[in-house]
Amino acid sequence: MAKNTYDAIVVGAGFGGSSCAGLLAKRGLEVLLVEKNARAGGKAMSISKGGYIFTAWVVIGAPVEGNLYEAVLRELGVEDKAQLVVPGAGGSIYKNSSGEYVPMPPMPPEAVDPNILFDWLEVPEEEREEALQFFTELTFMPPHEIAALHELSFDDWLSRHKVPTSLYGFLVSLCCDGMFMVPVDCLEAAEAIRSLQDMFLRNGGMFCIGGFGRVAEAYCEAVTANGGKVILKTRTEKILVEQGRATGIVTNKGTFHAPIVISNAGLQPTVLKLVGEDHFDKGYVNYVKDLVPSWALLGYRYFLNKKVTDAPFGVVFSNESPWSLDRFLKAKAGQASREGVVYYEVPSNYDPKAAPEGKHILMTGSYCPANPDMAKKEIMEWAKAGEEIIFKAIPGLEGAIERKELYTTKDVSTLTRDSVIPGHGGETIGLGQIVGQCGPNKPSIRAPIQGLFYVGCDAGGKGVGTQQAIESGMNVADAVIRHHRMRNASP
Ligand SMILES: Cc1cc2nc3c(=O)[nH]c(=O)nc-3n(C[C@H](O)[C@H](O)[C@H](O)COP(=O)(O)OP(=O)(O)OC[C@H]3O[C@@H](n4cnc5c(N)ncnc54)[C@H](O)[C@@H]3O)c2cc1C
Repeated sequence: MAKNTYDAIVVGAGFGGSSCAGLLAKRGLEVLLVEKNARAGGKAMSISKGGYIFTAWVVIGAPVEGNLYEAVLRELGVEDKAQLVVPGAGGSIYKNSSGEYVPMPPMPPEAVDPNILFDWLEVPEEEREEALQFFTELTFMPPHEIAALHELSFDDWLSRHKVPTSLYGFLVSLCCDGMFMVPVDCLEAAEAIRSLQDMFLRNGGMFCIGGFGRVAEAYCEAVTANGGKVILKTRTEKILVEQGRATGIVTNKGTFHAPIVISNAGLQPTVLKLVGEDHFDKGYVNYVKDLVPSWALLGYRYFLNKKVTDAPFGVVFSNESPWSLDRFLKAKAGQASREGVVYYEVPSNYDPKAAPEGKHILMTGSYCPANPDMAKKEIMEWAKAGEEIIFKAIPGLEGAIERKELYTTKDVSTLTRDSVIPGHGGETIGLGQIVGQCGPNKPSIRAPIQGLFYVGCDAGGKGVGTQQAIESGMNVADAVIRHHRMRNASP
């Protein structure tokens, strides 16, 4: 008879769930990992179809130095199963004051020359010294000063400084909008500054051959190699709770038992759907309902008959593209421009197997509301806004398209977390890294139910999407091991 009792069950094989499950199995727990999709990786899963292999949408890894993808691959002894690459500088493109799309000039290899950046961004001579001082303060702010900024938005912090408009666009649109997918006047200052330091000092622009999902798949292989079990194409329908303790899960392939259940299915879906409101105090349910997810990206996968750029990835931005909450709400209502930052990735420029011989693939991502039920008309308006920008920024693109596919928040939601609050789902990151939801205010990894933990971007980590999820996987694995040992030590 198939085994149905484990030390710990992990629901979901996103970057949070798969790293946590791998680490627990490696450290000796009997682990079951249950994933609803046919492949691991969640919001950064790989797709293989029609001779193309790529991450499902634009996913840019950062930081490069000291990244956690490799730290966990190494600890699990599976570093040969996923090949990470750093294919070179991104092709950032700035729409200047004359409306021209200008690529960022190359930096000398020895050191970053701020004047090259300032020339590109048209920063006036007289503002450069102050801009440089501001940049230095941001990049080298010590941790104790950053820790004092949890109650402040990044925009509030920026407004204390005299930042040239284009540098504001660079910091907010190029760097923060896509890293966090929340408006700058909601983004937590401490989270933003720490992550920008990571990016400036430890670089960005890491990818994986075969798509980023290969990393999560390698973590899953470590679960199996260490005596655990991974079941794909299996949806968890319920997390079982008896007398305030987690006892297992019900899936479409049977019931499994464990005194520890770790959910990567999202904090809100876990509480409101998989466990059910009745098992929680009303105040906690209200707290969970009020948590705010990040916003979303939609974009195109362009299948091309020729190379249109040498850049492996890039960002297109302007002085107008930074998103504030007010401008976003107005744009959503059709009362303001939808011009925002556009991310692009060209897997065929760094992965020789990404596209068939002679073909290329370029993917884009641009802002839209995290609503999986958006009307077709609204979806197309957001998609058009992003497409118009990328066609201007990469002039050869439009003429090289053989076929294109639009991905939307509905696709992201279907492939990852269930939508449990009307109008919410398909968010890019997880819970938004906004004031009140980061640092000391980040939701706890422990649910108020004995033995139930949350893993992934909603709890236990910090920083940029995939890294945040893995950091959570590592922290939750440590906490679960302690919990398991204490349980076993009890008389
Ligand atoms: C369009 C897009 C672009 C992005 N770009 C970047 C980027 O450039 N850089 C970056 O670092 N990050 C990026 N991210 C964000 C990053 O991918 C996510 O933040 C991160 O992967 C989330 O990991 P997670 O473990 O928290 O959750 P998820 O990836 O959401 O994983 C949850 C897993 O649980 C599974 N699951 C859910 N419910 C059930 C259930 N009931 N039963 C069984 N399984 C279940 C899901 O199928 C999924 O595999 C991007 C995301 C998107 C969508």
